[in-house]
Amino acid sequence: MTRSVVIMLGAPGAGKGTQAVRLSGELGLPHVSTGDLFRENLSQGTALGAQAKEYMESGRLVPDELVIDMLFDRVARPDCADGYLLDGFPRTVHQARVLDARLGDSASVTIVNLVVPDEVIVERAAGRLLCRSCNNIAHRTFAPPRTAGVCDACGGELYTRDDDAPEVVRKRLAVYLEQTAPVVDFYAAQARVCSVDGGGHPDAVFESARRAIQVPAQGERGGA
Ligand code: AMP
Repeated sequence: MTRSVVIMLGAPGAGKGTQAVRLSGELGLPHVSTGDLFRENLSQGTALGAQAKEYMESGRLVPDELVIDMLFDRVARPDCADGYLLDGFPRTVHQARVLDARLGDSASVTIVNLVVPDEVIVERAAGRLLCRSCNNIAHRTFAPPRTAGVCDACGGELYTRDDDAPEVVRKRLAVYLEQTAPVVDFYAAQARVCSVDGGGHPDAVFESARRAIQVPAQGERGGA
């Protein structure tokens, strides 16, 4: 069976994480977020977490070799045997090339690029809240939790990422433009990118993404 790999691209704060969670549920593919994996390593105090810490806190990319090993370890686990959805990887052209070489012809790859204007990105990152337990994402203004500080999905504690501070968001955007935007061009050269307007309400963005990658809505599905 061909493995199905979905890659979410987009600037920091474009809504990748939010849409990745929803699409992974819709497609039945595990959500693999390199940012979440690094944050888990940080909170568990691993050697990898210690190596990644200063890069993350300053809004820079963690060196390719650390990310690639961590990612390939993760996708080698049995739950990824039929495929997975990548959120936050690849973020450099080198990472994209290594992933391509690793997948070869063994996977059907779908790329979703969430396109959002810069000013919306800064606004979104400024109010973003993340659950310490389940990594669910909420937003102070656009998607407030039912109870302040408490995750709607699991009851865990919501917190603001250190790297969502405005000056770090600006650095992350600059890093995105310099190192990650070329990844979109890399895939576009192979005519494989589904561009989705990520500027609207999360439900509308999800609908556009679903259509772009041609996943039928619940009511449109035929058969059993
Ligand atoms: P994210 O949660 O995807 O915004 O990632 C948070 C931080 O983790 C980034 O700002 C980087 O420092 C680091 N990171 C996550 N994924 C990657 C990657 N593919 N390459 C390099 N650094 C990464």
